[in-house]
Amino acid sequence: MMLKILDILKQGVRKAYDDRNREGVHVSDLVLCIRKSVLNRLDPQPLTDIDIRNFNQGLSHHHTTQQLAKEIVAESEHPTSVEVEKSVKEFGVLAHVDLVINGIPVEIKTTRSAKAAPSDHYYTQLRYYMVMLGQKLGKILVESYNAKENPWSETDVELTDDEMEMHKNNLIRDRDNFNLALEKKDWKLASHVKNDKRKVFMCMRCPYKKRCYDIDD
Ligand code: SF4
Repeated sequence: MMLKILDILKQGVRKAYDDRNREGVHVSDLVLCIRKSVLNRLDPQPLTDIDIRNFNQGLSHHHTTQQLAKEIVAESEHPTSVEVEKSVKEFGVLAHVDLVINGIPVEIKTTRSAKAAPSDHYYTQLRYYMVMLGQKLGKILVESYNAKENPWSETDVELTDDEMEMHKNNLIRDRDNFNLALEKKDWKLASHVKNDKRKVFMCMRCPYKKRCYDIDD
């Protein structure tokens, strides 16, 4: 009988997804829709083939990052510290930063948008990393799968002391909102993106859309 390679691929990706440690609060739980992250914990839904495809692309991105780190060290004329998937725990929040180069966090994103421009939530994610690392400089690299030209962008981000304080307060606010909804087992307490023009795209394929849109908030 012919081997079903696709089934093996899907099982492997699904196992990698299930093996992720989802204890505690992660930055990735806070940067898009906190309500969806809470519902994911309280009532996890089966992955669709599209979810598996997207997660698989994320795994490929991880391998590219590791390769990039090796190249950075090899090309550098000066001693360079490069950390891949650096684990950070600060303010009761966990993060795995794609790359940290000489202490500076670098967030690497791929997008199906035709433009390789950083989205708002990429900035939010990077700023939370910067706050957690106590680092006022950061960088976002974006690769667009569908751009006809200029498929990459590289954006430097610099925060003032006041901005660091503001983003720290935002991180703590989001953490507390996530924890409260989870502790009370009440997803309605978690903030949502139904009325946020920049994030409402999240609702399109959300498995919790019906119950979320059935309440008026
Ligand atoms: S439907 Fe939209 S607002 Fe509601 S949980 Fe899903 S992503 Fe969040």
